[in-house]
Amino acid sequence: MIEIKNLSVRYHNSTNDALKNINLTVEKGDFICVLGKSGAGKSTLIRCLNGLQKPTNGEVYWNGEPMSTKNEEQIRVVRREMGMIFQHFNLIPRLSVFQNVLTGLFGYRNSFKNLIGWYNSEELKEAKQVISDVGLSEFLDRRVEHLSGGQKQRVGIARAILQQPKVLLGDEPVASLDPGTSNHVFKLLKEMHLRLQLLTVINVHDVTLAKRYATRIIALKNGELLFDGTPDEFTDRI
Ligand code: ADP
Ligand code: ADP
Repeated sequence: MIEIKNLSVRYHNSTNDALKNINLTVEKGDFICVLGKSGAGKSTLIRCLNGLQKPTNGEVYWNGEPMSTKNEEQIRVVRREMGMIFQHFNLIPRLSVFQNVLTGLFGYRNSFKNLIGWYNSEELKEAKQVISDVGLSEFLDRRVEHLSGGQKQRVGIARAILQQPKVLLGDEPVASLDPGTSNHVFKLLKEMHLRLQLLTVINVHDVTLAKRYATRIIALKNGELLFDGTPDEFTDRI
């Protein structure tokens, strides 16, 4: 589904590669945790997958098609097939849970289309369903600024799921949450992965969470691929 060939990234003004010659093939059915210390290149890898970062060398193939040959509009189309969740949630604080989740239907660029009256009844029903799936039905009309961190991330997950993505990408989605809440968020992500057969790629610091939930662990160190295998094979070498 995603193929990464000889991928390197070097940022402007930098003398080191943020990613060095990475080769990976990612298949539908994987629940991947990308491990690595701060600065290892995890975030750069996610941004290469969704087309926000252009490789310095190498190529990312999405369903066999090279991302580098796509124009802005084509990249936007591909990005619609990728649900994203973030460390700082990227929600609209003054809007309700319902309104924030509905923005998933149009992507973040068009989040001004957030008036509930704009959506048809089928869309409203689907949004209510995913909100129920993440356990937030009772908070439907609450402004997200009044939610806890774990609840906010559930809104982020619901918004991504409403997009009906082919892959869910997470850039440190539990880095601002306490361990218990992080565990619950991962448990929900795993449930969604199993129920929807959704390819999931999540950056995470916490080895315990990765070992508990991943089907496959990828570890990066200083931009290099250090490990790619099952949680059982993984020993903490980073
Ligand atoms: P991680 O997500 O694992 O913390 P990053 O992908 O954010 O790692 O960073 C990898 C390396 O690239 C680090 O050395 C970081 O300082 C550098 N880097 C990240 N983003 C930029 C940027 N926009 N400009 C310059 N250097 C960057
Ligand atoms: P349940 O929904 O069955 O109550 P939880 O979501 O609370 O389960 O936890 C799922 C798993 O994660 C369990 O194996 C539990 O022991 C473990 N767990 C829960 N909270 C934490 C935590 N704060 N730190 C480490 N492990 C935890």
